[in-house]
Amino acid sequence: MKHYDVIVTGVGTMGAPACWYLAKNKYRVLGLEQFDIPHDQGSHAGQSRIIRKAYYEHPNYVALLERAYQNWREIEKATGAQLYYKTGLLYFGGESSVLINGTRETAKQFNIPLDILTADEAAPRFPAAKFHSHHQVLYEPDAGFITPEKAIAVYTVDAISKGADIHAREKLMTWKYTGGIIEVETDKAKYTADKIVICAGAWTKKIMPGLQADLTITRQLIAWVKPKHWEKFTIGNFSCWFLNDDDGNLFYGFPVLPPKDFSGPVGLKLAHHKPGEPTDPDNVTRSFKPGEEKILIDVFNKYFPGAAENVLTLKTCLYNNSADADFIIDFIPGTDSHAVVATGFSGHGFKFGSAVGEIVADLATKGKTDMPIGFLRLDRFK
Ligand SMILES: Cc1cc2nc3c(=O)[nH]c(=O)nc-3n(C[C@H](O)[C@H](O)[C@H](O)COP(=O)(O)OP(=O)(O)OC[C@H]3O[C@@H](n4cnc5c(N)ncnc54)[C@H](O)[C@@H]3O)c2cc1C
Repeated sequence: MKHYDVIVTGVGTMGAPACWYLAKNKYRVLGLEQFDIPHDQGSHAGQSRIIRKAYYEHPNYVALLERAYQNWREIEKATGAQLYYKTGLLYFGGESSVLINGTRETAKQFNIPLDILTADEAAPRFPAAKFHSHHQVLYEPDAGFITPEKAIAVYTVDAISKGADIHAREKLMTWKYTGGIIEVETDKAKYTADKIVICAGAWTKKIMPGLQADLTITRQLIAWVKPKHWEKFTIGNFSCWFLNDDDGNLFYGFPVLPPKDFSGPVGLKLAHHKPGEPTDPDNVTRSFKPGEEKILIDVFNKYFPGAAENVLTLKTCLYNNSADADFIIDFIPGTDSHAVVATGFSGHGFKFGSAVGEIVADLATKGKTDMPIGFLRLDRFK
């Protein structure tokens, strides 16, 4: 039976960088992934993920975002691959809405560059958008997007080149902690390790049924549409955007990405940031009801006239929601700090992947991290 310093379960958003940091620091690491790397059954598929720093959700995330930006640059430098695209991010909505108020306040508190405009001032600067007179418009120049599938592939390949064993299509079935050792059984083999890191996303509860936190898995819809005036919406001419509408809904989208440089669907992508229907990650409805995308198309028609001539592609993706929408990063009780879990990323975790990978690698090998993750502890759900 092969023994490792650390076994990482789930080579996705958080697991791939975790393997990279462990391999880079010369630990013997095994990464186990039940599907291909990357794949479209979990939470990381879909070509692009927004990254932004003026975080409306909770000011405590800003320190993690500083590290995430730094670490995305680190992996880009180490491999020569571009993963982060600085497009800027246009926010709009009522001045006191959760998104606008929270973003503005966080930017002020942490001196994050942010332009603050009235609807009239913003109109000539963002001609594709139709602002309402009561909207406040914000623009974060250092925000943009990360390419998720490519990021996971780049971390994985470089981890392998640094000595990591990465096994795709091998599913962890059970694991236990006994006498200072972690024992793992997969559908193919048995292994032991000093430590285990569980980054299993939507499947976390399946391999940790006793986890003291509720996790709700929801089915999310993403649409790519064909705009009437393609050029107006291409990267370089159009930024990422984030809207808080008057009914409290949050919608966000991306520019059109040229297929010569980006894999995945073509068109202008948008999604609704709200947990959808609860689902079992092993039994997700991947087909679509007629008109299911209407809520998304209506947003384009109302706020970006001419942006949606017809739908090109629809896809599903999974949110893994914690009860308070904040992440969970902690040691697993009863394992004497031999097991670490990172889960509950609640539809906003991708941008943090480069920092979370380093954090869980440090927790597993040093027993601590220099990042302020106290607010993400498991015992807040007691
Ligand atoms: C539609 C949509 C849009 C999003 N937009 C954004 C955005 O713009 N910005 C942003 O920051 N975030 C965004 N997110 C959220 C972000 O993508 C997730 O928070 C993040 O991908 C979660 O990472 P994870 O590592 O927990 O899950 P995953 O990336 O899914 O990785 C978990 C991995 O564990 C594997 N696994 C599970 N069980 C086992 C097992 N027993 N054995 C072996 N392997 C196993 C899975 O197969 C999977 O590969 C979005 C999510 C969705 C669905």
